[in-house]
Amino acid sequence: MNQTSLPPFRERVEHALQDQELKSALVNAQKKFRTGRNQAAEDLGNVEEWRVRAEAIRAHTIQHLDYYLEQFSTNVEKKGGKVFFAETDQEAIDYVLRIAKEKKAKTVIKSKSMVSEEMHLNTCLEKIGVQPIESDLGEYIIQLAKEMPSHIIAPAIHKNRKQIAELFSKVAGETLPEDTPTLTRFARELLRKKFLQADIGISGCNFAIADSGAMILVSNEGNGRLTTTLPKTHIVLMGMERIVPSFEDVDVVLSLLPRSATGQRITSYVTALAGPKKDNDIDGPEEVHVIIVDNGRSNALGTKYQSILHCIRCGACLNVCPVYRHIGGHAYGGVYPGPIGAVLTPILKGFDGWEELPYASSLCGACTDVCPVKIPLHDMLIDLRNDQVESKRTDKFESFAFKTYASIMQRPSLYKLALKLSKYPLKPFTNQEGYIEKGVGPLKQWTKARDLPAPASTSFREWWQAEGKKGGKADG
Ligand code: SF4
Repeated sequence: MNQTSLPPFRERVEHALQDQELKSALVNAQKKFRTGRNQAAEDLGNVEEWRVRAEAIRAHTIQHLDYYLEQFSTNVEKKGGKVFFAETDQEAIDYVLRIAKEKKAKTVIKSKSMVSEEMHLNTCLEKIGVQPIESDLGEYIIQLAKEMPSHIIAPAIHKNRKQIAELFSKVAGETLPEDTPTLTRFARELLRKKFLQADIGISGCNFAIADSGAMILVSNEGNGRLTTTLPKTHIVLMGMERIVPSFEDVDVVLSLLPRSATGQRITSYVTALAGPKKDNDIDGPEEVHVIIVDNGRSNALGTKYQSILHCIRCGACLNVCPVYRHIGGHAYGGVYPGPIGAVLTPILKGFDGWEELPYASSLCGACTDVCPVKIPLHDMLIDLRNDQVESKRTDKFESFAFKTYASIMQRPSLYKLALKLSKYPLKPFTNQEGYIEKGVGPLKQWTKARDLPAPASTSFREWWQAEGKKGGKADG
C-alpha cells in the first residue's frame, strides 16, 4: 500500500483501538508466543551466551557485507543460479515481471516473503495478467482479505476463525464450518493443485550462506519446499542483509530464530537450497534467479542504525510490545509492524509519512530485552526522535513547550515559581480526587485514555519547608 493512500497514523490507531476482535486475538497470540519463547529460551541453557554469539555473527557479517555478498553471489552462479542486485524495489519488480513475461507465466505460487510485500509484488503481477497465489496459510488468508500482513511471522494473527471461515466460504461457494481441521483441509486441498499448475515459484530467504551459495528457508507448512521445487522457475527475493558467512554461523542464528518466534526448538521444515536441479536430480527448478534487494537498507550502513540490519525477523519484539498489543500491525502502516517496523520503516523510507512511528512506543525496553541479536531497539527509537528534533521536523508547539520546560528546569527560582503557579490554571479541570479527567489543548489527547494527576495543593518543597520549621521531623 502506498503511504499516501493510507489514512493518517492517529486515525489508523483510533480505528484499531475500537476493534475488540483484533484486541482479543492479539492478547491471546502474544501470550502464547511469549510463553513459548520463555520456555524455549530456558531449554537452550544460557540464552544470554547464545544472544551474544548471534549478535557477534550478525555484526561481523553486516560490517563486511560487501565481501560476503560478493562471495555468496559467486557461489550461487557457480551452482548455476543467476544473481541480480536490485538497488530499488522497482528494479526488483522489473526483473520479476521480465521473467514472468519470458516464461509466459499465468500463475505464480509464492511462499512467505516480506521483501515481496515491500515491493507490493502481487499487485504488480496482477497488472500484467499473472495470478499470484500465496501458499503460506496466513498469507493466503490475508491475500483473500486484500490486506497486508499484521505480524512478521503470523500475517493473519488479527483474524479469528469466524472471519477465516467467511473468507474461505466465499472461495468454496458454500458455507464452511468454523473448525480448524476443516478450514486447513480446505486450504491444503486448494493450494496443492495450485503448486502443480504454477509456472514460477517465488520465495523469500531466511538466511543466505556466503561460503556455499545455499539458501535456508524455514516453515511449518512445507509450502516453502513445494514452491521452490515444483515450478520450473524459482525466483528468490532476499533483503541484502540476509547473509551469514557459513553453515556453522547459521547453526547459531537458526537455534534462536524459531525459539524467539514461536517458541519452537525447530520449525517443521528447514530447507537448504542451492541452485537449479542437476542432471541426476529427480526434482527441482530448471532455473533459479536470486534477487538481492537493497531498497533503502544501505541508508543504515555506517550509521548509528547499522545494527537494525542484524534483524533475523523473528517477531519476538512484536510479541512483547504493549503498544503492538493494543493497536496491532496495520496501524503502523508499513510492511514491518511493531518495534522493528517503528525503527526500520523510517530508515528504509525516510521520515516523510512515517514520522510518527518512532513515537509509537512506551520505551519500556521489552523489545530490546527479547531481541535474539540484541538490537537496541528502544535506544534507536529515541535516536530517531532526536533526529527529527535536530532536523526541526517536530511540531512547533511541542518544540516551544520543551524549550520552555528545559529553561525552567535549569533555573531553580523559576522552577519554584512555576510549581507554585501551575495549580491555578488547572484547578477548574481538577476533580475532587485531584485528577484531571478531561484536559484541554495539549492535555486533551493525554487525558483521552487516562487521568492526569493535578499538581498537589501543597508541593513537596512547601511540605518539606513546613516540616523543617516544625523541628526537623521531615528528616525522620
Ligand atoms: S528486531 Fe530483534 S526481536 Fe525484533 S524481529 Fe528483529 S530479531 Fe526479532
